This record gives sequence, C-alpha cells and structure tokens, in this order.
Amino acid sequence: MLSKVLKKEVCAECRFCCSFRRQSLWELPKLSAQFMEKYRTKSDGSEIRYIVSDKGDGVTDLRDLYQTDDPSEEVPCPFLDAQKGCILPAEDKPFECSAWPLRLMRMEDDSLKVCLTPTCPSVNQVSVDILKDETKASWHELMENYAKDHPYIIMDYKEGYIPLE
Ligand code: SF4
Repeated sequence: MLSKVLKKEVCAECRFCCSFRRQSLWELPKLSAQFMEKYRTKSDGSEIRYIVSDKGDGVTDLRDLYQTDDPSEEVPCPFLDAQKGCILPAEDKPFECSAWPLRLMRMEDDSLKVCLTPTCPSVNQVSVDILKDETKASWHELMENYAKDHPYIIMDYKEGYIPLE
C-alpha cells in the first residue's frame, strides 16, 4: 500500500477493493499454490473454493455466492471480516492486496509499468505527481522483483489505468 499517501485506517474503513462485482472478478488477487493449500476453510469452518490456473496459481471462487442478478451486487473476499477488515497476517496477505491500488502492467510495447487503478476512491484524491515519485522511489523495483518469481501478478494493460512512469 502507498502508506505515505494512503493511511491504513482509510483502507480499513473503505474496503472497496475487498468486495467484488461479477464484472470485476478479474481483479481478484492472485494466490500462490502454497497459500491455497494453507487456507482451505473460513473462520466459520466453511470451505474456501479456488479457481486454479494450469500454472498452479489461483483466485478465490466467488461465482456461486451471488444471490441476485443485480450487476451491482458485491461479494466480499472470504478473508474480509466485517468488523476487523482483512484477517490475514501481513506475511500471508497477497502481494496485489499490499500493492493496491498499484498494478504492474504489460504495455503494448511489452514494457512493464506500474499503473494506478482508476477506481480507488481514496487514492484518486492524491496528486499523480506524488504517486509517480513514490513509484520511482520504491514500487517499480519491488513489483518487478516480485514478478520474477510470481509472474501471475503482471496484468495486460487495460484502458483507463494511469501509467505512473
Ligand atoms: S485478501 Fe485481504 S486485503 Fe486482499 S481482498 Fe481479501 S480481505 Fe481484502
């Protein structure tokens, strides 16, 4: 998280990025095989289901949890507690959740750039120049290094995302 410009308390209260509409399921954080093996059940004992890719990484499977046909209905991530926020310990939190609202994206010319998700309600009030400075100082190298072992965090560029470098 961009802790210098986005306070943890703001995220804890907002939780926008921890609930998903059907059309935003592609934004679910990618999870490693070890993570999915470790977290098989929710705190109430119910099973957590995953969609696993042929490379072994995956995402939580929320598809059967929608109750209506309303496209604005949101289903929370199974690790979101209504009172406490994300219940995962820091060492197990998916990298993409820690980096949100930044994404490492593959651009049309095949370069990798850190981009800002356009929908985060809080960070979009921060000057893009400040976010560019933060990215240059710390995020690009961190994300690119992480992606060497976890290439599944790289997303193809989507229109609307704001390149920060
Ligand atoms: S893992 Fe935690 S931070 Fe990430 S979406 Fe789920 S509840 Fe939110």
